[in-house]
Amino acid sequence: MPIDRLPQLTDPAAAPRLVIKVGSALLVGKDGEPRRAWLTLLVGEIAAARARGQDVIVVSSGAIALGARKLGLARGGRGSLADAQAAAAVGQIALAGLWAELLAAHGLIAAQVLLTLEDLEDRRRYLNVTATLGTLLASGAVPVINENDTVATEEIRFGDNDRLAARVGQAAGASAVLLLSDIDGLYDRDPRLEGAVRVPVVRGVTPEIHAMATGGSSSGLGSGGMTSKLQAAEIAGLAGIALAIIDGRPDSPIGAALAEERGTLFCPPGKARARKAWLGGKLRMKGAVTVDAGAAAALARGSSLLAAGVTAVEGAFLRGDAIAVHGPDGTVLARGLSEYDAGECAALMGRPSAEHEALLGYAPRSALIHRDQLVML
Ligand code: GLU
Repeated sequence: MPIDRLPQLTDPAAAPRLVIKVGSALLVGKDGEPRRAWLTLLVGEIAAARARGQDVIVVSSGAIALGARKLGLARGGRGSLADAQAAAAVGQIALAGLWAELLAAHGLIAAQVLLTLEDLEDRRRYLNVTATLGTLLASGAVPVINENDTVATEEIRFGDNDRLAARVGQAAGASAVLLLSDIDGLYDRDPRLEGAVRVPVVRGVTPEIHAMATGGSSSGLGSGGMTSKLQAAEIAGLAGIALAIIDGRPDSPIGAALAEERGTLFCPPGKARARKAWLGGKLRMKGAVTVDAGAAAALARGSSLLAAGVTAVEGAFLRGDAIAVHGPDGTVLARGLSEYDAGECAALMGRPSAEHEALLGYAPRSALIHRDQLVML
């Protein structure tokens, strides 16, 4: 049953598995203390979803904000990467403890899972995360996930839990990702401007939709902002997962916002196969190839990418690495797993398949990227 209305997110038939992402500004007050009363009510809503038969995975921010206060760090612990990492190390204990305590009041077991970007970019580790989350949910636990801020360096950070939540949604085969924000959805222009209206449903994150986001986190406590929420919606969409943004600030925010359809729902274009979902959500590519107009048209028809249509190769990728496919005008058309390393691609590019065996010195593969390992963007 495709999700195209917000109330479906409370229906276990339409949304058997939900990821709920809670931002720092909701969890931690301006005084640096956890907002216990609000969180207690939210956990009540999570317990109600569980009682209806929905699996729930929580993606919780707040470690840096909580730890910064305890360590007395300036700028909420976000003054430098070292500060953020130290703050997260201290704050994560408090954060996990809080979730565990409040979930236990409903007889629910919390399971802490800390992830880095690399854990989900690498296919084997991704599958391992999938298996672990599956086991936790099957055992009745509520995974409470955060980025492993303390070990993640700048290059391997998600940086924001919006994209982490979307990637977790993919890994867990969730039906929907619900982002609790400090705004009730996407507005057609800067929401502070007069006449700005909320966009209730988005089908396809087009350049026009991107232009509506103003970026930046309004609270200063988290790192998200609307830009990262749109990226999260794109990642979820490529995996066939719905994503919703609602205002998390009121007490018990979920039930009323969903029932009254106060939010923005990003409807996925369709259901994606598991490997393609992973590929579509990958954030880093090892290299790229550029293709001519004929190959671009063939890809759009669902064909594999043949070396004959490739005009340039960039990067030092290996066979099996994820690479981007650029069109003749430089736009990114697709991502896929290369059947060859970069040197072999360079040797084969522009050459018809009949010549490949002689060029390689061994039996060639059927394509440079097979269509089963390719996702159009
Ligand atoms: N992982 C960070 C934390 O726990 C939050 C990232 C974000 O703000 O999205 O504090």
